Amino acid sequence: MNKLKNIVRENIQQLSPYSSARDKNNTKKGVLLDANENPYGSLNRYPDPYQNKLKQLLSDYKKVAKETIFIGNGSDQVIDLAFRIFCNPIIDQALTFSPTYGMYQVTADINNVKLVNIPLKWNFQINREKTAPYLKDNSYKLLLICSPNNPTGNCINHKDILFILKNFKGAVLIDEAYIDFSDYESSIKLINSFPNLIVSQTLSKAWALAGARIGIAYSSPFVISLFNKIKPPYNVSELNQKAACTALANKELFLKKKKQILSEKEKLAFELKKISCVTKVFPSQANFLLVKFSSPIRVFQELQNNGIIIRKRTNQVPGCLRITIGTPNENQQLINVLKQIK
Ligand SMILES: *Cc1c(COP(=O)(O)O)cnc(C)c1O
Repeated sequence: MNKLKNIVRENIQQLSPYSSARDKNNTKKGVLLDANENPYGSLNRYPDPYQNKLKQLLSDYKKVAKETIFIGNGSDQVIDLAFRIFCNPIIDQALTFSPTYGMYQVTADINNVKLVNIPLKWNFQINREKTAPYLKDNSYKLLLICSPNNPTGNCINHKDILFILKNFKGAVLIDEAYIDFSDYESSIKLINSFPNLIVSQTLSKAWALAGARIGIAYSSPFVISLFNKIKPPYNVSELNQKAACTALANKELFLKKKKQILSEKEKLAFELKKISCVTKVFPSQANFLLVKFSSPIRVFQELQNNGIIIRKRTNQVPGCLRITIGTPNENQQLINVLKQIK
């Protein structure tokens, strides 16, 4: 714990956080004349700043203590707060493995922190020899791993994650936005052994709540207390907390939708492999497929001309476009257009 404290920015350690009106006494009973709210209406009160009801549901569901859970306004907020806790602008650096999620670079840039991208190997796994020297350099305070990785679709090998956790003294954030689609085990179970580990998940993908902006960080109670210390006081709206609780209470619907998306993914991969302009369909542990085309820009344009929008990833992975799994009907429309392209 003491060692971990050393990697926290000095000003964040010293900070006295904003104390919101409901911090200590989060009750909505009694005569509430403390927060300058309007006494009339249905959304007139500030939301629970610590989202206790939602955290209780997640705690039961994931079998982890409530003190190990932080809720962000999307996992993008979790990533941003992690930069702000651990990395002094200009002075400190962060690490990630490319190709990966573009928001890491943007968030590093916003925070004026240099992000070093270590290239993944040909199979999109971590190159240990290239990585090892960085792990020993203590100017690196934060390391981001995306698993399943966006846009490549694969999971990072568990033994490489352990190698990093055992050798890196800074904070390690494992972004598991797509873990619910994967048959790999989450790294959440490692948070008790590695207090510098943060595992982020989201309700935006498998839980179908991208519009509600609910991101989750699981970590040691010490790291969670830092997130709480620097977060905007009411970072998750009442409406969003309610939407998240409703979704989590309906696990049947979640499992049904997830099963449908996974079976559509298999079908789509099978169909894509038969199409002449497709040169490779990468295996995927997520709800998208990374696909290599002989002329990707033309394919992208042609799809766009037909009202089908996919993601150009040619700068990250040569020749590749990323396709999200849609409804059976949407996937069929995609296949129909691709079949016309010579
Ligand atoms: C989609 C995605 C997220 C989700 O971010 P939210 O802010 O929770 O919607 C996070 N990480 C990765 C790698 C993603 O692809």
